[in-house]
Amino acid sequence: KKLLLKGKKLKYCSDCGSSKIKFVTPEGDHVKRYICSECENIFYTNPNMVVGALCVRGEKILMAKRNIHPRKGMWTLPAGFMENAETLQQGALRETFEETGSHAKVIQPYTLFSLPHINQVHMFFLADLLDENFGPTSESQLVELHGEDEILWDELAFPTVEKTLRHYFSDKQKGEYIFREENITLW
Ligand code: ZN
Repeated sequence: KKLLLKGKKLKYCSDCGSSKIKFVTPEGDHVKRYICSECENIFYTNPNMVVGALCVRGEKILMAKRNIHPRKGMWTLPAGFMENAETLQQGALRETFEETGSHAKVIQPYTLFSLPHINQVHMFFLADLLDENFGPTSESQLVELHGEDEILWDELAFPTVEKTLRHYFSDKQKGEYIFREENITLW
């Protein structure tokens, strides 16, 4: 198993400004950390949480064509990095509004993915789209409702979006929506 240490090398201590940064395993720890040699501050890095929503309106799903990197021009479910001091649901609904202009109401947690190779966790809620005020935003060049036959499967931005959509249309056939937890790994 290959250990991937993501992120840029730390150059300066954000506490004291020193450039004397070492990369060592602290006593009692099991992972190498950036540590300031001057003030002994340890800089921990942990996975980032991405939260989003599969918003349903009748037979259709709210999809956004990304206007920002990465994957600019590809289609996604509204989702983004969770902010400090908000809940998962708040994050999902905030991202939905920011990226599409519409409001939604959470129905249930739906998919949860660990992506250890990029140090991320992705979670999607199933939600009801409450209005049709959606339209282009600074983050989305196009926002549309897509039925199953309108989803651009070859132009989806992220594997977790594709998996969530496939689960949804499969569950829709059965009339039962099941929460799933999965791992996406490169090894
Ligand atoms: Zn320092």
